[in-house]
Amino acid sequence: MDIRDGFIGTIGHTPLVRLEAASKATGCDILAKAEFLNPGGSVKDRAALAIIQDAIKRGTLKPGGTIVEGTAGNTGIGLALVGNAWGFKTVIVMPETQSQEKKDMLRLIGADLRLVPAVPYKDPGNYVHVSRRIAEELAATEPNGAIWANQFDNLANREGHRATTGVEIWEQTGGKVDAFTCAVGTGGTLAGVALALKDRNPNVRIVMADPLGSVLYSWKKTGELASSGTSITEGIGQGRVTANLLDAPIDDAVQIPDEEALPIIFDLVKTQGLVVGGSSGINVAAAIRVARDLGPGHTVVTVLCDFGTRYQSKLFNPEFLRERNLPVPGWL
Ligand code: PMP
Repeated sequence: MDIRDGFIGTIGHTPLVRLEAASKATGCDILAKAEFLNPGGSVKDRAALAIIQDAIKRGTLKPGGTIVEGTAGNTGIGLALVGNAWGFKTVIVMPETQSQEKKDMLRLIGADLRLVPAVPYKDPGNYVHVSRRIAEELAATEPNGAIWANQFDNLANREGHRATTGVEIWEQTGGKVDAFTCAVGTGGTLAGVALALKDRNPNVRIVMADPLGSVLYSWKKTGELASSGTSITEGIGQGRVTANLLDAPIDDAVQIPDEEALPIIFDLVKTQGLVVGGSSGINVAAAIRVARDLGPGHTVVTVLCDFGTRYQSKLFNPEFLRERNLPVPGWL
C-alpha cells in the first residue's frame, strides 16, 4: 500500500529531475527538485506547513485560529490549503502587481484576499507591514486568535527546508552533489537547503541566483544593498536581507537577467515537457553558469519552484513579453 494522508501528506518528497538539455550542454548532471509538483503547485507548501506546525507546537496558533500573511501568492496558497485541511482561517495580503492566476487561486480556495499597492518595504503600506498590522488586530478580536506567519523572518521557514528539501536532495543524490543554486524570496529554500547540505559536506558550493531589481547580488559581492534593472519574475528579488538569509552559508552569487532565464523556461516547456514559472528559469540559468564554472563531471542541483500555468497572463503571454522587449516563445 502507498497512501498519503490528505493534502498535508502530499507535501514534499518531490522528484529530482535530470534536466537533459542543460546537462548535455555542460557535461554536468544538472538536477532540479520538482517543487512545482507539490499539491499547492509550489515550493512554498513546505514553508507554509513548517510555519503552521511550529506555531501549533509553540501554542500560538490555536484550533480555529486565523493565519495572516503577506505574500507574493504562493505562500498564501500553501497557508490557505494547509489551513483548510486543519481548520484554520487565512487572511492573505498580496501586492496587486502579482499574477491574476495566483489571485484567482487564492479566492477559489477561500482565503480572505486583500490586495495592496506594490510599495517598497520601507513604506508602512508595504504588504508585509499591512499583514502584520492585520494580524495584530485580529489577535485581539478573533475568538480563536490569530498569528502572523512572518515567512521572511520566521526561521521555522528555513528549518522546514533544512529538515525536508535539503535532506531529500542529499538522499536522492546519494550525497553526490557539488553545488546548489537557488533564488531568494524569503531565503527559506536557499538557506534551509544550504544548511542541510553543508551539515553533511561543507564543500558543497552554495550559489545564490538573483534576478535584476534585487539587492542581494550586490550585498553578497560588495556588502552593499544596491540594485538596478527589473524582472518580470515573481516571488523572488529582495530589497533587504531577511532573517532567514542573514547568516546562511552562501559561497557566491550570480545575477541572471530575464533575457537569459526566459529562453530556458520556454525550452523546458517545448523540449522537456516541464512547465514552470519565472523563478525556475533564474534557478536553471544559474545552475548552467555554475556547471560551466565547475567544468564537466560535476553535479549541480537547483529548484523548479512553481507551475508555469500560474503565469499564463504574463510569462506565456506574447503581448506582455513583446511590450517589454523580452523573448517570445516561438509557438505562441
Ligand atoms: N519562486 C517562487 C515562484 C516563489 O513564490 C518563491 C517564494 N516567494 C520563491 C521562488 C522563493 O522561495 P523562498 O521564499 O524560499 O526564498
